[in-house]
Amino acid sequence: MIVQKFGGTSVGSPARMKSVSQLITRPGFQGNMVVLSAMSGTTNTLVEICNYIKDGNTEGAGDVINRLQDKYTQHIDELYATEEKKKETLALAGEIFNYIRSFTKDVFTTREEKIILGQGEILSTNMVTNYLLECGVKVRLLDALSFMRIDMNGEPDAWYIKQRLAEVMQAGDPADLYITQGFICRDAMGEVDNLQRGGSDYTASLLGAAMGASEIQIWTDIDGMHNNDPRFVEGTKSVPHLYFEEASELAYFGAKILHPTCIQPAKFNNIPVRLLNTMDPDAPGTVIDNRKDHGIIKAVAAKDNITAIKIKSGRMLLAYGFLRKVFEIFESHQTAIDMICTSEVGVSMSIDNATYLPQIEADLRKYGTVTIDRDMCIICVVGDMEWENKGFEGHVLDALKDVPVRMVCYGGSNYNISFLIRKEDKEKALKALSKTLF
Ligand code: ADP
Ligand code: ASP
Ligand code: MG
Repeated sequence: MIVQKFGGTSVGSPARMKSVSQLITRPGFQGNMVVLSAMSGTTNTLVEICNYIKDGNTEGAGDVINRLQDKYTQHIDELYATEEKKKETLALAGEIFNYIRSFTKDVFTTREEKIILGQGEILSTNMVTNYLLECGVKVRLLDALSFMRIDMNGEPDAWYIKQRLAEVMQAGDPADLYITQGFICRDAMGEVDNLQRGGSDYTASLLGAAMGASEIQIWTDIDGMHNNDPRFVEGTKSVPHLYFEEASELAYFGAKILHPTCIQPAKFNNIPVRLLNTMDPDAPGTVIDNRKDHGIIKAVAAKDNITAIKIKSGRMLLAYGFLRKVFEIFESHQTAIDMICTSEVGVSMSIDNATYLPQIEADLRKYGTVTIDRDMCIICVVGDMEWENKGFEGHVLDALKDVPVRMVCYGGSNYNISFLIRKEDKEKALKALSKTLF
């Protein structure tokens, strides 16, 4: 069996929902699991609604809810051929929107916010399931909240997911096809939570691992992982094959096509991940697995909103234990370090979460002079970067000869070289790399 995940644009209109329904019922589909995101734009609108409620603007929230409901009423009207399914789905959508409305009248905490954010996936999965039922497919909708769970640390509880999913599947009528919601889950206390924005990819890989799938397919609006960010560079090309580590680096460093955490469960269980295009279903896309390709630079990605922190200290000279003190400061403020470079007199690090920057800065000042550079960007070049390969670093650095580079990291893994540059130089750097490398 395979797990197939369809993102927001893939289910973004009634027409797209019909195409997806055709795709997931192609010959041999029996036994598969389908994970759906919310229709594109819906989760953002739900965030908007939550922001209005948080600001105490009940009227604003009400207007956005009404507009969203009107849109869904139209979609539902367009999707179904029979009055029966139209009525049934409209009634369900009505209940969901009234539920969302109910939160504008009461106490509003992150608990209620998370419930609202998950309604897009509940709507889309019900719409597609009802459409398939109307088409005569033996499909069953599984409630992700009954088996997707994260633990006290916010990490997926793989053992629980596997056990509960098996129980849930066995408890109901057998079906030819299973559909469930991406993104949503429960926390360790049983409250509704989610796997972070873009997290439906993660749901798919967690379910692939839980079910021992032969493949995890991520269907989106582009024909696989491209060799550069298509939002900034023209003429990018699809990469046919990536090693798990290469895909993880690209996803972590900004290739939006994949959620950063999604490769881990697949890699751990050695399940290939295939990135495919809903608009061009027969295009080969990208296969991600445990095969390594030698001597190839595969792709470039960029991650924004990076802050660079440098600490210079006379005391660092020959001082073992200095780095430990520095790392403890970041740990105590729950901030992960992305890049790090050291010299005899100083350490430079980059972070993407600046929430605790003032506290980190204050603590670091106890040990030396601290300099902060905001609005930076990490450019990550991914491929076979084994140190014994000759000339790759030179080639990559040559591409960036006209861009000021704040930090360079190489050798941390065998698969990437990262550069820290100013945000305003990002597009120039990405284009220069494409020109030189591909
Ligand atoms: P979905 O809603 O299906 O999850 P996303 O918007 O999250 O889709 O991801 C697909 C988008 O990722 C593409 O439309 C593309 O603009 C963007 N993207 C960024 N970097 C890359 C890349 N290297 N290769 C392919 N797509 C990329
Ligand atoms: N709907 C959620 C989001 O927009 C999850 C996802 O699409 O993966 O973030
Ligand atoms: Mg996505």
